[in-house]
Amino acid sequence: MSGLCVVIALLRNGITDVTIYEKADEVGGTWRDDTYPGLFCDIPSRIYQYTFATNPNWTRLFSPGDEIQAYFRGIADRFGLRERIRFGTEIVSARFENGRWVLRTEDGGESAVDFLISATGVLHHPRLPTIAGLDDFGGAVFHSARWDHDVALHGRRVAVVGTGSTGVQLVCGLVDVAGKTMLFQRTPHWVMKLPNPRYTRFTSMTRRRIPWLSLLAYRLYSAGYDFFAVGLTTPGLRRKIMGALCRLSLLEVRDPELRRALTPDYTPMCKRLVMSSGFFKAIQRDDVELVTAGIDHVEPRGIVTADGVLHEADVIVLCTGFDTHAFFRPLRLTGRDGIAADDVWRDGPHAYQTVALPGFPNFFMMLGPHSPVGNLALTTVAESQASHIVRWIERWRRGEFDSVEPTSVATDTFNAELRAAMPKTVWTTGCNSWYLNKAGVPEVWPFTPAKHRDMLANPDAAQYEFNAGAV
Ligand code: NAP
Repeated sequence: MSGLCVVIALLRNGITDVTIYEKADEVGGTWRDDTYPGLFCDIPSRIYQYTFATNPNWTRLFSPGDEIQAYFRGIADRFGLRERIRFGTEIVSARFENGRWVLRTEDGGESAVDFLISATGVLHHPRLPTIAGLDDFGGAVFHSARWDHDVALHGRRVAVVGTGSTGVQLVCGLVDVAGKTMLFQRTPHWVMKLPNPRYTRFTSMTRRRIPWLSLLAYRLYSAGYDFFAVGLTTPGLRRKIMGALCRLSLLEVRDPELRRALTPDYTPMCKRLVMSSGFFKAIQRDDVELVTAGIDHVEPRGIVTADGVLHEADVIVLCTGFDTHAFFRPLRLTGRDGIAADDVWRDGPHAYQTVALPGFPNFFMMLGPHSPVGNLALTTVAESQASHIVRWIERWRRGEFDSVEPTSVATDTFNAELRAAMPKTVWTTGCNSWYLNKAGVPEVWPFTPAKHRDMLANPDAAQYEFNAGAV
């Protein structure tokens, strides 16, 4: 999603000597990889799309995964991106040498480029749990992002491990197919019940005939997100309203015992809030079981919990999330003077203004460290970052410099500001989540979405180092 976005921004600004490297054989990133039953976007489609290519034909408020993937495939076709993509080509290393980036592909081939942009996603590398005996399981076992479509589900017993957005959506997607669904919950997540109505044919028709309506909807939804996103980063009424809505949602669970088991003991939104229209209905069905005892081990017949109970299963799906701190790695990135990104990030990934790194000239990241991945639609974030990056490349084309990188002082100051703001955010209120780095500090944006947009729209040249042709 972010790669297509930045390349379109480059092309629209006349920068056409662009190659996209893609290790898979299709575009779409997480929307290509995730194909589990029940997959929906947890952000309304009217915002989860590019402003320059709004889709009048979304079928629902929150669109299903295959519809979003079709949108990105269509974008690649419509903007002529496929001819620029080298599919099936993984970049294993990149080094800054003699003022250019030398990229090395898996097969040992090398090519040199003036600018390197990583757009490698956030939810990409599956995080697999270490559960004793998992390899001995007699049925099928796979991660949610590596769905095995050859495995039949009809009438079978399916164990779902993990209760984040994926586990919750999957339970909803399984209930009408599987014979029995078991949800293994280590920690309850707050789930907000939100309806997911279908758009009528009339709505789609008017959106097609009056395109600015889609843009208007985008602006309205974005304004709503901006309003509530303040609750993530600042305590106050908005946080309380979101919390109250989550507690209200739980009232749909009639059995007090089950409701208690599903009620988290931390502040709503501390972990990524799960949005679902059907989870509480699904979890109350007779053929669905919530298992709260911890997983002890797996044996050939199923999962054995710490209370000694064997939960027999035919399929185990690991909805255990992603390594969200990998960024472009395992690609080995070596900046000027042999500086290795792995060394620079030994204590955790960081960046300047979410897009750049000192020591790595002419290198930019889409959705880099501390991007507002928890605060607003990633398509919106990508568009701001793409415009920012294009502006630097345009200046280079005008001959203003040969290479640009943020100063170390600017980067340290920026990260100190982020750290100072973290204690006010909801992510530090006492839960474990994929937002936190290994030191327990959130790796997301602790300010308003507007501040991120303004920051990227107004870069301060004094915070950068320029090589030759300096401004
Ligand atoms: P996640 O939010 O990181 O949740 C992982 C779940 O697995 C947690 O419940 C975790 O429990 C559990 N878990 C991990 N290791 C375990 C173990 N060894 N034993 C038992 N349970 C274990 O991952 P996710 O649900 O895949 O979601 C990741 C993000 O993807 C979401 O936050 C969302 O941003 C995005 N997403 C979006 C959509 C969408 O828009 N369509 C759909 C799905 C996901 P603990 O809480 O105890 O650690």
